[in-house]
Amino acid sequence: MARYIGALCRICRREGEKLFLKGDRCYTEKCAVERRKYPPGEHGQGFKKLSDYGIQLREKQKLRKMYGVLERQFRRYFHAAERKKGVTGEVLLQLIESRLDTMVFRMGFAPNRRRARQIVGHGHIQVNGRATNLPSYQVKKGDVIEVKAASRDIPEIIDSLSKSEYRGIPGWVEVDNASFKGKVVHIPSRDEIQLPVQEQLVVELYSK
Ligand code: SF4
Repeated sequence: MARYIGALCRICRREGEKLFLKGDRCYTEKCAVERRKYPPGEHGQGFKKLSDYGIQLREKQKLRKMYGVLERQFRRYFHAAERKKGVTGEVLLQLIESRLDTMVFRMGFAPNRRRARQIVGHGHIQVNGRATNLPSYQVKKGDVIEVKAASRDIPEIIDSLSKSEYRGIPGWVEVDNASFKGKVVHIPSRDEIQLPVQEQLVVELYSK
């Protein structure tokens, strides 16, 4: 499936916010948003007032790009959220937060979501003891996610785990670094998912 493979920092600069797409670099002064606080491109420094639609669109793009999900798939998440009980915006966030690649990132097995997707896709991850190479696999409360025994010597995974506390492990997962294993304690509520997005704007956009 097609993926955005361009420069990640351009995405943050376009949105004017740190979206933490790269990993370690995001926490340093080398972060492109820290150094250049204007959108990328020739006309990046020109002032442009957005319409309501433009604001909603940017918010949706920000969320979609943070998780590295393509438009069609993102829309599917939205329709699935609409059909479930609860506040649509919150359920939408819960659905994308429950993707296996995101959980692998949250547990610290990868420095960012993009690498988490590759680690899952290359078959290094097991869910409840079974090899699972689908990044969009939806995890559930109680699922145990672990790095396959044969993959525990991969330097990137070891390095990422060693820095995971620095990046922060969210309260909805438990991780045992020594055994390369984590558990989904619960699916997070909106308050716990600390993302700089107004998901209601995304709901308004898709509800037009
Ligand atoms: Fe975004 Fe990280 Fe690049 Fe900063 S370093 S612009 S947070 S991807």
